[in-house]
This record gives sequence, structure tokens and C-alpha cells, in this order.
Amino acid sequence: MPFAHQSFARDVSFLKAKATRQSVVGVVIALFALVVATTLAAYVQDGRLTWGGIVRAQQTNFVLWFLDLLPMFFAVWGQYVGSVMAHEAGAMVIDQTQELRTQTVALECKAHHETTHDALTDLPNRSLLHDRVVQAIHRAKRDGGRLALLVLDLDRFKEINESLGHFNGDRLLKQLAVRLQGVVRASDTLARLGGDEFAFVIPNVASDADLHKVAKTIQKAMDAPFSLEKLTLDVRASIGAAIFPEHGQDVDTLMQLADVAMYAAKQDNQGFVIYSSKLNMASPQRLTLMGELRQALERDELLMYYQPKFDNHCNRVTEVEALVRWQHPRHGLMQPAEFIPLAERTGLIKQLSLWVLKTVLHQSSRWREDGLEIAVSVNLSAHDLLDPELPDIIAGLLAQHSVPAKQLVLEITETAIMADPDCSLEILNRIAKLGVRISIDDFGTGYSSLAYLRKLPVTEIKIDRSFVMEMLDNPGDEAIVQATIGLAKSLGLDVVAEGVENDATMVKLKSLGCNLLQGYHISKPMAAKDFPGWQSDRESK
Ligand code: C2E
Ligand code: MG
Ligand code: MG
Repeated sequence: MPFAHQSFARDVSFLKAKATRQSVVGVVIALFALVVATTLAAYVQDGRLTWGGIVRAQQTNFVLWFLDLLPMFFAVWGQYVGSVMAHEAGAMVIDQTQELRTQTVALECKAHHETTHDALTDLPNRSLLHDRVVQAIHRAKRDGGRLALLVLDLDRFKEINESLGHFNGDRLLKQLAVRLQGVVRASDTLARLGGDEFAFVIPNVASDADLHKVAKTIQKAMDAPFSLEKLTLDVRASIGAAIFPEHGQDVDTLMQLADVAMYAAKQDNQGFVIYSSKLNMASPQRLTLMGELRQALERDELLMYYQPKFDNHCNRVTEVEALVRWQHPRHGLMQPAEFIPLAERTGLIKQLSLWVLKTVLHQSSRWREDGLEIAVSVNLSAHDLLDPELPDIIAGLLAQHSVPAKQLVLEITETAIMADPDCSLEILNRIAKLGVRISIDDFGTGYSSLAYLRKLPVTEIKIDRSFVMEMLDNPGDEAIVQATIGLAKSLGLDVVAEGVENDATMVKLKSLGCNLLQGYHISKPMAAKDFPGWQSDRESK
């Protein structure tokens, strides 16, 4: 504290000088009083004023002796008081300097904390994580150990944010941060990378099995639903891991590879994936594809194909299922399995579903104009069922294209509904009120309860093609198909069998009382322009 000492010494000498000035004034006043008193005493004593009288007054008048002492007294007192004042003030200055210093240190600490921690969750941020990984790599190099960097990303967080608002999104992240903090050990680091991405640094990883255990513990912490206002939300996350030294030697590489593993976990719905070089091959392609899909939507590069559904009662095709394709400039005609999961992960599915609905309803109105009365079914994703605007969008499009609501069927999977049953139920009820029909796609492959299905405004069940395709060779599959048809009938629902690939299966399904049949045996999906010709050919046979 050299600065404080210097300023203290300066202040002390300033105060001392000030006190000395006061004591000099005191001495001058005392001397003046002494001169006046001596002069008066000499005059009173002799009746006139002479030098000898003044000397005599000084020698004989003891009151003047007392006055003689006053200047000295003032001088000494002035010096003493001055010193005391100066020291007291100096001590005060030192105290205040100390306090200021403490405040400065606290402010510096706060500023440092803010630059290294995330404001929402108070967890270390990306830059502190970077430092921690660097330190952990140094230690691992020195001790010959392994360390893992895990990246966690919430599934469907974008939709939660969009449907429940950013305030609730933030509340969810805070709750999640607290839970995650509960599972990390003192030697681990948990950080928030931004958005819904978190990272863990796990030092001393003995084996991959250990890492799987850590991932399981993290996922377990998310098992219990999160509560936001009156809602309870089931939230899942995808976790990817990269290991030092096998996968990368520096922070950036480890980070990038953990990210690649996390995307693989998300895409394949696996929960947790440890990086491997196989994943890396697909990653840049995926990234390119994501950007291209966005452009494809803007440039209308997507196509709709239509697959007929054959009605057993009236012996003709009364409905078609709309199935999207992507005419990719380099990869050719791409199937939905190659890009729908990508669109779901990037949130692009909302735009894609809107494009599909617009295109299909436009097509439906053109067929109607040509005298072709055909119902169309459109596949929706889990994400669509979280969009509160969807019922109004559908109502608007039906009105715009003058398509009766009952001519539109929405196919949704059990898994999509169960992603957020309460929200889906509310949206589906609003859509059903419009008169639009709802079909449960891929029935039998999800995990919805029958009790829950009864609550849904469903009009149709589609038996998954995996049961239908092998039902003639596999008695278990046949039993499932038969039971599902029975269940649908007892609930008063239509039942569609998809994946009908041969005549024998068609005959069997007819005998079991299945209403609608769909499959390659009837027709493969075709372009819209081919459908009227195909339909009239079939009817003329
Ligand atoms: P899905 O809704 O279950 O559609 C039926 C799938 O089975 C279609 O595959 C169809 O081509 C195929 N299929 C039909 N009959 C047969 C058959 O006899 N044998 C075999 N092996 N397959 C048959 P596709 O067109 O590749 O679509 C796959 C999935 O992609 C669809 O399953 C649906 O979940 C999704 N999808 C397609 N179009 C869209 C869309 O516009 N939006 C959304 N969100 N998903 C879509
Ligand atoms: Mg479908
Ligand atoms: Mg299906």
C-alpha cells in the first residue's frame, strides 16, 4: 500500500500545518493581550505611560506574570492538538482507504465471476470450462490418465421455449442446472455452454463402462418430471462424449467431437453416445444437409407423393396418404427417413409441415375441381403437436382451398403424442373440433396406454407395417393384427393395415374385417400427376 502511506503522510503534514497556523494565531492574540494589559497596568499605576513604568508593572504585577505564560501555553497546546488531530484524521483516512480497497477487491471478484460464469444458472461458462479442460489435460498428461468431455443437449427444448415462453424455458434450465449439480463429483466440472447445452469434464475415466455409468446417473437426474407453473414436463437429453487422449489432444477437438457424438445420440434417439471415427464421417454431410434443407423449403425443392388406401367396403380407393420426398440436386430423390429426423432436430419441421399441409390441400382442391373426391392424410411430427397455432393454421388452409374438413386426415404416431400428452391432447381436440380426422400411425410400435388412447379424439388406427408384412409367416404378428382390428372395432374406429405387399395378405386382412388397406400390392407412392390416371385405370379394370 505505498500509495496509501504516501497520501497519509501528506495529509498528516497538511493537518499539522493547519494546526500550527491556529496555534500561531493563539500566540499572537496572547502577546497582544499581554502588551495591552501591561500598558494599561503601567498607566493605572503611574498615571502616565513611561518605559520605566512598563518595566515596573511587569516586575510587580503578578497577574501580568500569568499573562506572560499564555503565549507559550498556546504554542504548546496548539502543537499538541495539531498532532492529535492530524493523527486521528490520518487514521480515518487509513480506515477509509482500507474499506475502499476491500470494496475494490470485492468488485474485481464479482466482475471476474461474471466473466467466467453463466448469468442464468451461475454455472461456469464456456471460457471457464475451456480453462478447466486445459488444466485437466495437463494433469492427465502428467499422470498418464484419461479424461472425458461430455456435452448434453436437451431434446425438444426449442419447442418448450416456443410453446411455453422464454421465461418458462429459463426456469426449466435453472431447475436442470440444480439437478445436474447434484450429480457431479467435487472433482468434475459442470458448465453451461449456452442455450440448452451443458458440458461436463470428468477426470480419471478408467473405462467406457465408467462413462456409461456417469451418463446414466445424469439421465436419472432428469427422470422425475420438471414442474413449470401448472405443467409437469418430461424432459430428455442427448449426451455425447469425447475422451482424451484417444479422440483428441486439445480442448477444441474434444469439444467438436463430443458435439458430433451428441448429435448422433440425438438423431438415433440413443440417449448417450461415445465418439467414434464412424460418426465423424456423417457429421459434415449432416451439417450441409441441414442448410440445404432450409434452402429446399424456400426454393420449393420438396415433392409430395401419394399412396392410395383401398377401402374394403366400397372396393375402391377413397383416400391417399401424402408422403414427402426431396429432389436433391446431388443425392437424387431422397426418402423422408433421410431428412425428417434432421428437420425435427433443427426445428425446421414446423416450416416443413406447413409446406406439406399447404401443398396437399392445394392438390386436394385441384383434384376436387377435376371431380376427384379423395380424402388425403398428412403425417405430423411430435413437434407439430406442441404448436398452439396449428389448429388455426389448418382451419385457415381448409377455408382457403375450400376443402371440407372431413377430407383431411392427420396421421400422428403414439410416440409423438406421448412426448407431451397434455399439450398434444389439447391441440388434437381443437383440430378434431374442426371436423378433421385423426389417425394413429404405426400403431403397436409406441408405448401409449389404451386408457390414454380412449381420451384422444381419434377416428382411425393404422397397424404398423412391421406386423402386417410378416403376418402370414408369423403367428405372433397375425395375433397382433387380429387383436388390433378387434380393438379398433370395439372402440368404433376405422382400421388401416399398411405394408400390404401381396394378395394373400390382402385376402387375409379382408377376412379379418380390416377397413382400409395400404401397401405396395395396391400401389407404391406416386407423384400427384400420376394418381388420376392410375385411379381411372384401376376402376376400369
Ligand atoms: P408412415 O407414415 O408410416 O408411411 C408409410 C411408409 O411405409 C412410407 O414410407 C411408405 O412408402 C411405406 N410403405 C407403404 N407401403 C409399403 C409396403 O407395402 N411395404 C413397405 N416396405 N413399405 C411400405 P416413406 O414414404 O419412406 O415414409 C416413411 C415415414 O416418413 C412415414 O411413415 C412418415 O412417418 C414419415 N413421413 C413421410 N412423409 C412425411 C411428412 O410429410 N411429414 C412428416 N412429419 N413425416 C413424414
Ligand atoms: Mg403415415
Ligand atoms: Mg405408418
